[in-house]
Amino acid sequence: MKMFRKLAIVKEFLSVKDFKTKEQLKRYQAERIKERLSTHGTSFYPNSTKLEDFPIINKKIFMENFETINTMGIKKDEAFKIALASEDSRDFSNKIGSISVGLSSGTSGSRGLFLVSEEERVRWAGYILKRMLPKPLLQAHKIAFFLRANSNLYESVNSKLIKFNFYDLIIQIEEHIEKLNSTQPTILIAPAQVLRLLALSSDLKIYPQKIISVAEVLEEEDEVIISNRFSQKVHQIYQCTEGFLAHTCSEGNLHLNEDRVYIEKEWIDKKSSRFSPIITDFFRSTQPVIRYRLDDILVEEQEPCVCGSVFTRLKKIEGRCDDILNIKDIKNRPYLLFPDFVRRAIIGASDKVEEYAVVHGEEGLAIYLQPLELQDEVEASLQKLYIEQNILPLTHSYRVYKSKDLTFKRRRVQQL
Ligand SMILES: [Zn+2]
Repeated sequence: MKMFRKLAIVKEFLSVKDFKTKEQLKRYQAERIKERLSTHGTSFYPNSTKLEDFPIINKKIFMENFETINTMGIKKDEAFKIALASEDSRDFSNKIGSISVGLSSGTSGSRGLFLVSEEERVRWAGYILKRMLPKPLLQAHKIAFFLRANSNLYESVNSKLIKFNFYDLIIQIEEHIEKLNSTQPTILIAPAQVLRLLALSSDLKIYPQKIISVAEVLEEEDEVIISNRFSQKVHQIYQCTEGFLAHTCSEGNLHLNEDRVYIEKEWIDKKSSRFSPIITDFFRSTQPVIRYRLDDILVEEQEPCVCGSVFTRLKKIEGRCDDILNIKDIKNRPYLLFPDFVRRAIIGASDKVEEYAVVHGEEGLAIYLQPLELQDEVEASLQKLYIEQNILPLTHSYRVYKSKDLTFKRRRVQQL
């Protein structure tokens, strides 16, 4: 079985190809979509080969219809029980038949359940290796992977050339530093806040060839700290339980994985190229993902990338739609303030800002700051933002920043 799995990963790895023109990509996508729609095999989706006949759904609808969307007849209660037991025991090898069950680490609201078959894991592994391994390929690598939970997806990749080490975020970072120093990984993969902590550690003595940020928004100020410390670009993987959606190219720019997923854009603000992706995955069949709207804010980049990829380029992944602040302009009309503006106002207030978090509630903004002494600077910077954007000033309260457990996804700006 293991041998078969490795061969299958290699097969997938070799089958991933680049497209020369947009037309070529469009033809490929049209074929894949047609095949996906005509073979979904669920009682939830309609029988049609036209995408527009399918409803646009979200996580809530997806979870409510868990049992009619999965094609394996798996019950929701059973899946939850297994996923929760794995989280408790930190043993992620439990399965239902050959299907792995995981819980999504959503930042808000209900937790999602995801089902992945052996074949889907293999495809995922082959694809991610092809897209992310440093060139030239076929060098030996030791990959250090920091995760909130090991969904046992990742261990399918271990081989002679590639060794995966899993670092559980529930364990103290000091312990990890020791293990990293003795293992000397060539590739380091972790959430942005962990990469930042590692970059700031004077005990850490590793020299990875590639650094990849996952699971959280990589903010500019963190990117600078990390790339300076390790003298290299910081790469990104944009992946959620719904699919592997984007990766950085050799130039370090983000591109959508349009050979795995078809992405419709639901514009949030077309002028600034901000949209939410509605995804249709070509290959997920245990739990088909069709016209699934993600609650994320992506910013499209119009400039083509010098890497030559025909895949849509992103300027950045900005955060979640939930985090857009619903406020009023000076004429008392509704106004959407993007979290990035608040973030930049705070960071721009002083180069001494070490940590911060902003929560928008009924009382205005609660601003958690480290060091707290910078509140006058931050206040002036936010007032300037309100004037520039013609918005009604919000009430602010300042509090000492307290760092959370690393198992929490970091959200700098948040709307309650
Ligand atoms: Zn590129």
